[in-house]
Amino acid sequence: GGQNVHKDRQLQSTAFPSPDPSVASVMENTRCFANRFSDYKGALLPGQSAQDAVPAVRATIDKILKKVPVDDCDGGLYDGPAGVAYMLYHVSECPLFSEQRELYLQAAKRIIDNMRAAFLLGGAGIYAVAALIYKSLGSADFVKPLTKFRNLWEVCAPISFLECGSDELFVGRAGYLCAALVLNKDQITYICQAIIESGKQYARRKRKPFPLMYSYYGTEYLGAAHGLSSVLQMLLSYQDALSGAEKDLVWQSVDFLMNQEQNCNWPAELGAIIERENELVHWCHGAPGVAYLFAKAYLINKKPQYLDTCIRCGELVWQKGLLKKGPGICHGVAGSAYVFLLLYRLTGNSKYIYRAQRFAEFLFTEEFKSGSHSVTSIYSLFEGLSGTVCFLVDLLQPDQSEFPLFTVFV
Ligand SMILES: [Zn+2]
Repeated sequence: GGQNVHKDRQLQSTAFPSPDPSVASVMENTRCFANRFSDYKGALLPGQSAQDAVPAVRATIDKILKKVPVDDCDGGLYDGPAGVAYMLYHVSECPLFSEQRELYLQAAKRIIDNMRAAFLLGGAGIYAVAALIYKSLGSADFVKPLTKFRNLWEVCAPISFLECGSDELFVGRAGYLCAALVLNKDQITYICQAIIESGKQYARRKRKPFPLMYSYYGTEYLGAAHGLSSVLQMLLSYQDALSGAEKDLVWQSVDFLMNQEQNCNWPAELGAIIERENELVHWCHGAPGVAYLFAKAYLINKKPQYLDTCIRCGELVWQKGLLKKGPGICHGVAGSAYVFLLLYRLTGNSKYIYRAQRFAEFLFTEEFKSGSHSVTSIYSLFEGLSGTVCFLVDLLQPDQSEFPLFTVFV
């Protein structure tokens, strides 16, 4: 289960004319459903209380547990069983599911105990989740995976430890920092310095007019998956580990990326021009993922332009976030809706809870079910229902919501 470059950048050629002429212009966009919901008018949706949502979430988890392979231990957090284990852990932490807590944690433990590290940093993510689950079960065994996780720092410290690009989120150093962030661990100064040095060298070699840049398999991605934004986000998350000069480089790069905005969105790769009809509005590529960097930047220095940027991301997601690529968090409806939960936490404005509720509602409609592309691993954390479950649970406790394993609030 190697996590390769996202295939969802390829153009879709199956455009069907819409039966309803009033929405035809929006439906020409093959990537998303038309958002026909009216916007917030001061009231949340009554039908989405815990009473209604908890049984739906439990049923979805039962469905996931029937699908998740117990003997196939490949894959990392992205699309393997380890992501399901993380979801079970996340749900078990929510008081609304206290009756199921033990059941879910034991299921998570069975999954994680079965895992073998699929590849280098996929392994790091698995150790990190294993430590969370053991700790939650009150087992002292959490020290073992934690130690294994910590020891991996030396593997990813050399500047070019991966040939394809050593810094990005899924297999590179930013991912190591991301997992460490959840666990609150140290030994990160070297990793941060390696990321900065690597970015400086690359930017210098390619004669970039800004200080830090990275590539993954030869492409200069900007978005959360594989790109500049999540690398910078992780550096901001660990800014205490940076020197003053290093911080300056990071902030210059944040502002550089902010200026790459094209009408509330960012192209998948540096320098590309966004085509409106066909733009990617995904967590992995585009505004719904880049928003987390500017949220982090805003939380650190409270500059209003960063919050404004996040708010613009949210407006685009409201228009174009009812994606056709399934229910997941990477390039699906739950990933879009997480932007609203992020904006709720940043602003306290209930409008964003309402919008998230509408997206949750849409997940259960016939239009969504019949009009969505099928998903390869329906149980997975990033493309399948495990991420959706995390979103539905977070919608019930929006004050604590955070995109799985991608927090900006610590
Ligand atoms: Zn994606």
